Amino acid sequence: MTYLTGSCLCGSVTIRVSDQFQFIGYCHCSECQKWSGSAFATGGLVNSEDLVITSGKELVSCYHKSEETDLCFCSTCGASLFSEKLRLGKYVVRLGILDDTPTQRPDVHIFTASKAPWFELTDQLEKFEQLP
Ligand SMILES: [Zn+2]
Ligand SMILES: [Zn+2]
Repeated sequence: MTYLTGSCLCGSVTIRVSDQFQFIGYCHCSECQKWSGSAFATGGLVNSEDLVITSGKELVSCYHKSEETDLCFCSTCGASLFSEKLRLGKYVVRLGILDDTPTQRPDVHIFTASKAPWFELTDQLEKFEQLP
């Protein structure tokens, strides 16, 4: 198994994640727009055992968004790190925190029905108005 390293903006939190995502996608839901402060969030899904916080664990704070999802971030710099899918036992890692380049590429857009009106989708990737 190959691993990728990642870190938050201030560098206090570092992670190691397997370079084998169950999928990588762009999420255009309104909550990801708020959470990321941007047009969409790019996330890769892994099993919980495939993500390890290698330093700064005590600085990781989580916002309990719903029964299904905790959104976790660095409490020092505020960088969005990953979400924890509480019922599935999986994590969605924000790809922007990676310091290495993953082997896979994003291959899907989800929740395009709520996409930011000021953002234009111009690629040929598969698109779903909500979930696949
Ligand atoms: Zn930080
Ligand atoms: Zn989303």
